Amino acid sequence: MRRTFLRGKCMILLLSVLLTGCGKTTAGSVGESDRFTARSIIFDCYSESGILYEKDGILCFVDYATGEDVVLCTKPNCVHVPYSAVNNPDPYCDAALPWDDIIETMIYGDRLYALVTNFDSTFVYEKGVSESEWKEFAEIPYSYYQAVKWIACNDRIYYVANQITQQEETLELKDAIFLAYVDLTDGTYGSLTDIHEDIGIISILYVDEKNLYYEMGYELDVAAPENEGQVYRMNLETRESEPVFQIEENKRFAGMCGENLYYVENGELRRVDAEGADESVYNIPETNFDVRAAASGFLLQYYLRDAEKFIDLYLDYESGEIKEMERTGTEGPVADIVGENVLVFGEAIQVIRLTDFLAGKDNYIAQHEIP
Ligand SMILES: [Zn+2]
Repeated sequence: MRRTFLRGKCMILLLSVLLTGCGKTTAGSVGESDRFTARSIIFDCYSESGILYEKDGILCFVDYATGEDVVLCTKPNCVHVPYSAVNNPDPYCDAALPWDDIIETMIYGDRLYALVTNFDSTFVYEKGVSESEWKEFAEIPYSYYQAVKWIACNDRIYYVANQITQQEETLELKDAIFLAYVDLTDGTYGSLTDIHEDIGIISILYVDEKNLYYEMGYELDVAAPENEGQVYRMNLETRESEPVFQIEENKRFAGMCGENLYYVENGELRRVDAEGADESVYNIPETNFDVRAAASGFLLQYYLRDAEKFIDLYLDYESGEIKEMERTGTEGPVADIVGENVLVFGEAIQVIRLTDFLAGKDNYIAQHEIP
């Protein structure tokens, strides 16, 4: 019964992603570096070394190296009592998150970070994985946009910030979202895009060694077609952005590497090269599909209704080759790619190295309950 329920939940999650076409929230990696962390669309924090998650106010970690799921507490004989402003305002437990406000936690290398927002401002705290005390690291005069992806790489957190203002007459709260960063070496921060109240969405798509890709769209008229927006490429060194792809009805971004850009239009996966030559590289027989990007390529998945199976294509940027893999409906679809790890939906989220996944092996290195 439980099995069926979970499977149903996975399918609903996947289908909602497929149907709304917002599965472009994908992640890549920073080459050899093990310092890469992202919040996946399935929540929590997935890093190159493991999964950081919070359970009832207690911080836990699934370690890929050992497969173990541990509470991040080093105190002897601790029973891990969470923080409570009334009953436990000064928790003994290292893993208890000592805040009432909205918290986003992440691991980057061997440091833990907590972004705590009260809507007006965001405090960033940090500590070593085995330390007890959180130290204040930065105070930022705006909030962050929850439930969207953030990425930490290149010693910075990139996230969608939110400046919330109250309208004088109506007292209505108005969001103004923008792409922002916090530097993890010195606590400096700033905005990376203009702050306009009419920006409706910003989605961080993925990063490769040099660039971060994101999609930005303006609040739309009812008459305007859905999915209209622009994909930008931001140089991680200079932090300058340039538009690389205009999203239109039936025209979706798939991935980009160097000057080769991939997109899907009318059931065709197409590639545009540096010279502007535009050619079809694959036909997609279904209208619902989903794209997950990594640094080395991207995975495009769709459900073949007649045959009742999932098809996964992986396009490798370097060779330009497409590898096609089939899955039966009972095997989990890929939920996300974080760095060089693939997150697969099953009974739980299962983690597998991208190379093993592409080789058809089932060497799962860790698993984590679906939040
Ligand atoms: Zn404890």
